[in-house]
Amino acid sequence: MKPVIAIVGRPNVGKSTLFNRLTRSRDALVADLPGLTRDRHYGEGRVGGRPYLVVDTGGFEPIAKDGIFHAMAQQTLQAIAEADAVVFVVDGRQGLTPQDEIIADRLRKSGVRATVAVNKAEGMTGDSRSAMLTADFHRLGLGDPCVISSAHGDGVVEMIETVLADF
Ligand code: GDP
Ligand code: MG
Repeated sequence: MKPVIAIVGRPNVGKSTLFNRLTRSRDALVADLPGLTRDRHYGEGRVGGRPYLVVDTGGFEPIAKDGIFHAMAQQTLQAIAEADAVVFVVDGRQGLTPQDEIIADRLRKSGVRATVAVNKAEGMTGDSRSAMLTADFHRLGLGDPCVISSAHGDGVVEMIETVLADF
């Protein structure tokens, strides 16, 4: 079975950009995925010969109680429930936000395997700024973050290998 990896995080952190980088075929084989909700954005990818499925989700807006943001939060929670692992994307340029802490809390309570991906860090992987980002987002209590750039590709293969190492 291919592990199902859900990409979550608040709006605009780069989830869809990461999804596009992690998948070759978008919306592939959705009809062949028993048990998975069909109204989400699924894709397939492969690294080092290992296949995986990725789910993109809408923005997570956990504070709103109704309306579109609530619906998106529900969709994200459903994606988390269906996933074998979660990549929790945060914005390395903005730093840690209160919304990130709320999402992290949800993830910790859900017990799902979650990897924090500190995005928008192009050119920073492997230098002191990367170490500062790692220390900052370590406070989310979800282990060692991976520092990546979804737009440029820095750190993305290492991140997905880290996620897949658990399976
Ligand atoms: P989503 O709302 O979380 O799905 O975020 P998107 O993937 O739509 O990206 C939101 C914005 O962030 C877009 O303008 C992207 O081009 C930008 N973005 C995404 N990834 C990166 C990155 O690695 N570096 C930079 N500098 N910008 C990024
Ligand atoms: Mg998106």
